[in-house]
Amino acid sequence: MSAGAHCDHERRTYNASVIGALLLIGQLSTAPHWPAGARVAVWVDPAHAPAKAAAFVERAMKTWTDASDGRLTLVPVRSRTEAAIRIAFVASDATYGEAAPRLDPGTGLIARADIAINSQVPDDPLDAAIVLYLTALHELGHALGLRHSDTFSAIMYRFRRPDDGSRYFGAYRQKVRSADDVGSPRVTGLDVEDISALRELYRSQTPPPSPSPLTRHYQENERVSYRMTTTNQNRTGTLTYTAVARGVVKRDDAGRFFEEFQWSDIVWNGSPFELPPASREFRQLLSLSPDYTPSLPDFSRIHGRLIGPTADLMNFYSDVWLAIRQPGVRRSGDRVVVNHGQAASWADGTRVLIGENAIDFVIVLGDVGAPGGTLGLTVQHVPPKEPKIKIPADWMRTPVVDVPNNWVQVTKAGEGRYVAAVGKEVFDAQIRLESATGRIVSARLENPVEVFERECSDEVLTKCGDGVRYRILRQVEITEIR
Ligand SMILES: [Zn+2]
Repeated sequence: MSAGAHCDHERRTYNASVIGALLLIGQLSTAPHWPAGARVAVWVDPAHAPAKAAAFVERAMKTWTDASDGRLTLVPVRSRTEAAIRIAFVASDATYGEAAPRLDPGTGLIARADIAINSQVPDDPLDAAIVLYLTALHELGHALGLRHSDTFSAIMYRFRRPDDGSRYFGAYRQKVRSADDVGSPRVTGLDVEDISALRELYRSQTPPPSPSPLTRHYQENERVSYRMTTTNQNRTGTLTYTAVARGVVKRDDAGRFFEEFQWSDIVWNGSPFELPPASREFRQLLSLSPDYTPSLPDFSRIHGRLIGPTADLMNFYSDVWLAIRQPGVRRSGDRVVVNHGQAASWADGTRVLIGENAIDFVIVLGDVGAPGGTLGLTVQHVPPKEPKIKIPADWMRTPVVDVPNNWVQVTKAGEGRYVAAVGKEVFDAQIRLESATGRIVSARLENPVEVFERECSDEVLTKCGDGVRYRILRQVEITEIR
């Protein structure tokens, strides 16, 4: 049935494009930090604060300031409104503390942070001092952008065993004689690893990046809706569909903005298609905030016909998200190549034995000052110089077009029947944003694959018939519904 072939192609494409983009986002999510040289104001909420808490927090601030060797300074302030880092004491049975750094949506640098520290401390004053000081030091480390460590002597050590708290605080207690010692320059609680991690993070004295002209300025409860039109041509036929994504801007518990979309109005090859209830209730979460890390929706919970639309919408968002994070994309005509090259796989081990592609990104900013209040962005996914994909047979190494093949798929069509295909895949996304808000106004994606395919009778793909060349072409368009 040809519909089956279409569906398979849908699956192939969503896997490839979206997983590729997500892998990349994971790799690019390097630790954010404050601007080098920053003077960061810290306020301690006096409510529920244990005795002398503010004094031990100040010692922790001084410890980090000293460790930074002039790269940044933490300064105490008296009022909440002046503060960039706010520390509150909250009773908890579960944690010693938590930190939530917030990023500037335009630069990706940390702009402020909220810290919660457990207000329940041991009765013994020395134990209390140790828990307060080391917890403040650890959470301030997170607020400065430091990540967890597996080194037990590091302040950024991640507690993993139930007795880690008592082991950790106990080890520090061995080194101090009294509460006056806690957090003193003699017993800072830092390991050399913490100090070098901090200095590495704040190594660069280059000026902080200016805000991206692509910055998304969200408003809570703002409505954002799109109509998507897709045409998929493959070897056996053409599939078209339209769908509507209605969205609203919300904030999560940490104050990060995201868009929550609900899909409806599917028209599949000209016929309206009623989504089953689970898919109608499904909400797709997307965001252009730099501190919101996108994740794949749970595709197992939604109808197959929603997979393509959700993946393609996500792809547009991922492309813009990536462009915002490139310091070299600021002025009209700026062009940046992001080398990625890693393979993304959509093999399922039963029918699709190998399914991989590998891409780099080419990002070009359009005319920033264009009339009409919009801004163009081009994001191409192109074959890397050396695509790191699995090529199972020598004949598949011959470039199908002009560059090394970056797309491969081997499917098992039946007993002793293997369909082996290889080729060149590119994505070309043209995205238009509203300059004032950074909202995506419209976008187009062309996703051609130039394929060379042979049917083989052995799994190592050496006994194969004549080859056939064809082109897969996906075209996706979204336009805003206002
Ligand atoms: Zn932690």
